[in-house]
Amino acid sequence: MVERIASINAPADRDEWAAQDAAELYRLDAWSDDFFVVNDAGRVAVRPRAGDALEIEIMDVVDEARRQGLGSPLLIRFQDVLRARVQRINAAFNDAIADVGYTNIYRGVYPIKVNQLHEVVEEVLDSGRPFRMGLECGSKAELIAALPHLAEDDMPLICNGVKDRSMLSLILAAQRLGKNVIPVMEKFAEFDELMRLAEDKDQPTQFGVRIRLRTSGSGKWADSGGYRSKFGVSLPELMEIVEQLQATGREAEFVLLHFHLGSQISDVQILRQATKEIAQIYAELVSRGIPVRFVDVGGGLGVDYSADNDAGAIHYSLQEYTNAVVSTLAEVCDQRNVPHPVLVSESGRAITAHHSVLVVETLGAYQKNNIAKDYEAPADVHDAVKRLVDMHQQLRAHSAAHDVSELLEAFHTLDTVHEEAATLFRLGFLPLDQDALIERLYWSNCSLILQHLRAADPDPLPAEVHELEEKLVDQYLCDFSVFQSVIDHWAIGQAFPIMPLERLDERPDRRAVLVDLTCDSDGKISEYVSSNDDKSFLQLHKLSPGKPYFLGFFLMGAYQDIMGDAHNLFGRVTELHVYADDTEDDNFWIEKVLPGIKVQDMLAQVQYFPNDLERRMNAIIKSKIDAGEIRPKQGMKILEQYLACFQHETYYDTRESDEVKSQ
Ligand SMILES: *Cc1c(COP(=O)(O)O)cnc(C)c1O
Repeated sequence: MVERIASINAPADRDEWAAQDAAELYRLDAWSDDFFVVNDAGRVAVRPRAGDALEIEIMDVVDEARRQGLGSPLLIRFQDVLRARVQRINAAFNDAIADVGYTNIYRGVYPIKVNQLHEVVEEVLDSGRPFRMGLECGSKAELIAALPHLAEDDMPLICNGVKDRSMLSLILAAQRLGKNVIPVMEKFAEFDELMRLAEDKDQPTQFGVRIRLRTSGSGKWADSGGYRSKFGVSLPELMEIVEQLQATGREAEFVLLHFHLGSQISDVQILRQATKEIAQIYAELVSRGIPVRFVDVGGGLGVDYSADNDAGAIHYSLQEYTNAVVSTLAEVCDQRNVPHPVLVSESGRAITAHHSVLVVETLGAYQKNNIAKDYEAPADVHDAVKRLVDMHQQLRAHSAAHDVSELLEAFHTLDTVHEEAATLFRLGFLPLDQDALIERLYWSNCSLILQHLRAADPDPLPAEVHELEEKLVDQYLCDFSVFQSVIDHWAIGQAFPIMPLERLDERPDRRAVLVDLTCDSDGKISEYVSSNDDKSFLQLHKLSPGKPYFLGFFLMGAYQDIMGDAHNLFGRVTELHVYADDTEDDNFWIEKVLPGIKVQDMLAQVQYFPNDLERRMNAIIKSKIDAGEIRPKQGMKILEQYLACFQHETYYDTRESDEVKSQ
C-alpha cells in the first residue's frame, strides 16, 4: 500500500494542471531554444525546423524504436536540429556583419572534439556548405579524421593543440595538396619546428598563432585564457616570431590570430574585451607588415542549460554574442585604419548541444512510506513500536484539525524514538523484525506529518517542512549510467534539463531523485532544472503498474557521449538518427540505428575474450560434472546460457520484463 503525498504546490491550485504548467515547471522556454514544446496531448514534441510548425512527438520515436526491438537507453539525434543550429549561428554572424557594415566575411569552423561522431561531422559540414564552413581539430587522431573531409580547397581546417613532428609534417603535406589547413602555434618551439620542416621541404607554409591574452574567461573554464592558461604564445614570444619572420622574409606565412576563452563564456563583456585585445594585436601586426588575414575568436558561445548555479549562467543571446564580436573588431580596425579580417569562430557546444535527447526508462520507484492505513501493531512489541503505532493512529484520525505546534512536536518525538530504537537495536534489545517495523512507521508518520503541515499552510513555513520533504524524496531507478551519458553532471556539476516525455497534462506530484544502474553512490542526478526554488529533486508522476515511464534528458549533444566512460562496463547506448518528414507517419523517419555496445565488445576493451572465458567456465562446469554434483546435460545448459549473454547489450533489458515495479 502506497501513501500518496499531497500536491506540492499551494493547495488552491491542486486540481488545475495543464500541459503549459509542465512547460513552466521544467523551464522549457528557458532552454529549448524553440526546438522543444509540450503539446496539448501532454507530450514533448520536437520542432526541428525554424518557422515550421512540423512536430515530432519524442514518444513516437521511442515507440518505433521498441517496435524495432531496440533496447533502452536510447540516444536520439534530431539531425534537423543540428542543421538548424548551424544555420542560426551563421545567420546571426551574417546579420551582424550587415548591421555593422563589416567589410569582410565570417567563416565558422566546427571543433570536432565536441562531438566527433562521423554522422554529426558530416551533417554539420553538409548544412554548413552554403556558409563555406570548415573544421577545427585538436589532436593527431582528430586531424586524421578531419583531413579527408575538406571537399573544397578553401575550406579551412584549423589545427589547435600540441603538434609533434609527424603532425606538422602531415599538415605541410596537406597544404601541398592545396588544402587550406592552418596549424595554430601553441608554443614558440612549435613555430620553430614548423619553419624548419617547411624549409627542408622548400615549401612556404601558412600558420596561425594562439595568443595568451590578458583577458581571461569566467566560470568553469576561465583558465583556458589569461596569463595562467596552459595554452598559447605570450606577447614576448609573439615578438620573437615576428622578428624571425621579418629576418627571413617569410611574413606572409603568418595568416591567422587566435584566442579561445574557454567554454561557456558567461558574459559578453568579457568577450568584447578579449576581442579588443586580439584586434589591437592584429592591427599592430598588419601595420608592421605581417599580412594576417584571419582573426579567430575561438569557441565558448554559451548554451543555456538553465541551471541555477552561477557557473553555468549565460547572460546573452546568440545575436548579442555575434554583434559584440563583429562590432568590436570593426571598431578597432577602423580606428587603426587596417582592413577588416576574415572573422573565424569555433563554436562547438552551441552547434551540437540541442540536437540529441537521451531517453531513459524508469525501472522502479522506491518510496519510503508504505504502511497500511489500518495497521495494527502485533501484541508483545517493544514500547518504542507501540508509541509509533499510537502516533500513526492519531495522525490518521482526520476528525481533529492538526495544530502546527503539535505536529512539530510529534515530528521531534518521532525522531527521538527513531534514534532510541537504533540504540536499542545495536545493544541487542530490539529484534530485527521490530526494528524494521520502526523504520516503516517512522516514514509513514513523517509523511503524514508533512501532509498535515502542508494542509495547515503555516506562514512562515517551519524549517521542518523542508527537512521532511528532503527525507521523503523518492528514488527513481533509471536504466542508464551517469558516467557514460551525463559525465559532466558527475565531473563538473552541470545540470541538464530532464523531464517526462508524456503525461505532462497530469500534475507530477512525486518528488524524486534519479539514480542510475552503476554501483557507485555518485551514480545519481543531484541537481535539476526546474522552477522550484529547491533544485535537489525533480517532480515526476507516480509510476503506473505495467506502464513504462520514459524521461528525456535534453541538450545532450555536446561533449557527453565522447567523454563518457566505461564505469561498471555499461558503455555506449543505442543511437537513432531521426529526420523530420511531414509525408511520413508521425512526421519522421529513422535513417540509422547504431545498436548499443554488446557485453562481448565491452569486455574486449578490458582484455577479456570469449574463447578464454568459455574455456574457464567450461573447466568449472566439467569439474562439477566429474564430481557428480550436476548432470552433464544440466552443465551444458548452464554453459549455453552463459555464452548467450556475450551478445546481450550491457544495460537493463526492459524487453525481458515489461513490468514496472513499484515498491
Ligand atoms: C574546445 C574548444 C572549442 C569549442 O568550445 P565550445 O565551448 O564548445 O564552443 C573551440 N576552440 C578551441 C581551441 C577549443 O579547445
